[in-house]
Amino acid sequence: MPTVRADAVEVDAVVIGAGFSGLRALYELRDEVGLSVRLLEAGSDVGGVWYWNRYPGARCDSDSFTYCYSFSKELQEKWSWSERYATQPEILEYLHFVAEMFDLRRDIRLDSRVRSAVRDERENRWLVETADGQQYRCTYLVTAVGPLSSVFTPPFPGLDSFGGELYPAARWPAEPVGFTGKRVAIVGTGATSIQMTPMVAAAAARLTVFQRTAPYVLPARNRAHDPVSQQEIKAGYDAIWARTSRQTFALAIEDTDRLFAECTPEQQHRVMEQAWELGGFRLMFEAFADVMTDEACNEAVAGFVREKIRAIVDDPAVAELLCPKNSLTRPQLGHFYYETFNRDNVSLVDVSADPIAEVTASGIRTTSGREYGFDVIVFATGFDGGTGALNAIDIRGTDGRLLRDAWRDGPRAYLGLGAEGFPNLFMSFGPQSLFANAPVVSEHTARWIGRAISYLRDHGYQRMTPTPEAVDSWVRHVADAYYSTAFKHGASSRSWLVGANIPGKPIAPQLYVGHAAGYFARIAGEADAGFPGFDIPGRETGALR
Ligand code: NAP
Repeated sequence: MPTVRADAVEVDAVVIGAGFSGLRALYELRDEVGLSVRLLEAGSDVGGVWYWNRYPGARCDSDSFTYCYSFSKELQEKWSWSERYATQPEILEYLHFVAEMFDLRRDIRLDSRVRSAVRDERENRWLVETADGQQYRCTYLVTAVGPLSSVFTPPFPGLDSFGGELYPAARWPAEPVGFTGKRVAIVGTGATSIQMTPMVAAAAARLTVFQRTAPYVLPARNRAHDPVSQQEIKAGYDAIWARTSRQTFALAIEDTDRLFAECTPEQQHRVMEQAWELGGFRLMFEAFADVMTDEACNEAVAGFVREKIRAIVDDPAVAELLCPKNSLTRPQLGHFYYETFNRDNVSLVDVSADPIAEVTASGIRTTSGREYGFDVIVFATGFDGGTGALNAIDIRGTDGRLLRDAWRDGPRAYLGLGAEGFPNLFMSFGPQSLFANAPVVSEHTARWIGRAISYLRDHGYQRMTPTPEAVDSWVRHVADAYYSTAFKHGASSRSWLVGANIPGKPIAPQLYVGHAAGYFARIAGEADAGFPGFDIPGRETGALR
C-alpha cells in the first residue's frame, strides 16, 4: 500500500474521465446522491473523445438530439442542435455548456492523468494517484475512461524516421493542420477515416487512402436543423427518449418487425431503397428485423450496398475494391465517402494483399517494395477498445491484484459496471456494457451507479463486489450475444470490438451487443431487486461491516 501523503484530498468519490459518462457521473453522485466528488481528467479540458478527436470531419453518427443528455429538461430546452449530426466543435461546446450550467468544473481537475488506484481494504478506501503525484482518497471509485480512448498506431518500423508531418487522427493538434498543396496519406478505413477522407480530399493536392478491409458505409444525409425543427425536437423529447430506450442501439428510430423472407423481392428492394434514401442507420434497423440473425437477409442487404457502391464509383476497379466482402455488421455513416473516390486527386491502395511494411523518411513502403511519397501521414488506425484505457491505470483491488491481471484472458465486468475482487469500483460505460448510442448508455449507467451507492449508504453497508457466479454468467451472456449474430462473421470479428486489432490481446467481446432495452431493463432490475449479483458484507447477517 503506497504511503498516504498529508496533502491527499479526501472525498467520497473519485470519477476518472470528463467525457460524456464522467460528467454525467459527477452530476449524479454530487447533485443527486449528495457525495463529495473529484473528477480527474487527463486532458486540458472537459470533453473526453470529443476533446481529443478534433480531426477534420469529426462528428457524431447518431441524430444529435439523441447524442446528448436526457436528465435535465432545462438543459434540453436551452440547447439547440444545428445539424442532424453535430460536428465535434458543437459537441464539445455542448459539453462545456453542461459543465458551466451544472457548475461541474469546480470539482474537476484537468491535466490530471490517473496512474494508479489502490484499494485499502482495511480502511475501505481507494488511494488514487495522478501522474503529477497528487493523491486522492475515496470510498467509491468510478471509471469513466471511455471504450474508445486508448489510441492505437500499429508499430510500423521507421515511424520516427518520417521527415514529414505525422498525426494519429485521435490526437489531432489543436492548431489547424494545412493540407493545401500537400501529398497526404490516410492509413485505415474505419469510422474516423470515413469522416476525414472527403474533408482532406477537398484540401490536399493528393490523397492516398490505404485500405486493408473495406467497410460498409451508409449515407448519413446530414442537414441543418432550422428553428422550427429545433422547436419540434424540444417539444418531442419525451417521445424521443422513450424511443431510444426501446431501440436496439438506443437510437431514436423504430426497429421494424418486418422479416426478410416474408417480403416479395419488390418489397425487399423498395424497403432497402427507402431506408438508403432516409440515411443514417435506417437500413440496419428499419428495413428488416433479421439482418443480424438471418444470413440470407444479411447477404441481401450487403449486396444492396455493394450495388450502390458500384453505381456511385466511376472506376469499376476502385468500386470493387471499395465493396466489402464480409457480412454486414456495424456499418459506418459517410458524408459523400464513396463519391470522394471519383476525384482526380484521390487514390485507394489495397494493403490487404500487400501490407504496409514500413514508414520511410519520405513516405510509406509496402511489402512488395512499392514506395509512396507523402508530406503528411495520418493514422486512422483505431483504438485499444474496451479495456485499453482501464488497463493503462494500475488498478489494484483486494489483495493487491491488478485489474489487468485479473482480466488477463478478457474483461470480466458484471453488467459492465463492477469487477469481482474490486469492491466499490464502478465503471460507467465500461467494458462489457452496452454497445450503443454512448450518451444514452452513460445516462443509464451513471444513474445505476448512483442507485448502487445510495443503496449502500441507506443500509449502512460499506462495500459491494459482484459475485463470481454473477460475473461468470454475464461474461457468458456477452459472448453468447456476440456469437449468435452476424458479428462473428463480419469485419467486427477482426476489430477492436473483440480486441483482435491489438497484437497479443485475448479475443473477447469488449462490449455487449445485445438489445439496449434488454440491457437497460437488466441493470434497472438488478438495482430494483437489491443488487442480488453483488456480495455486500453485512447484508445476510444484518450486522454492519
Ligand atoms: P477502426 O474502426 O478500428 O478502424 C481502424 C482502421 O485502421 C481499419 O480500417 C483497420 O483495418 C486499419 N488498420 C489498422 N491497422 C492497420 C495496418 N497495420 N495496416 C493497414 N490498416 C490498418 O478505428 P476508428 O475508425 O477510429 O473507429 C473506431 C470506433 O470508434 C468505431 O467503430 C466507432 O465506434 C467509433 N467512432 C465513431 C465515430 C462517429 O461517427 N461517432 C467516429 C470515429 C470513430 P482492418 O479493418 O483491416 O483492421
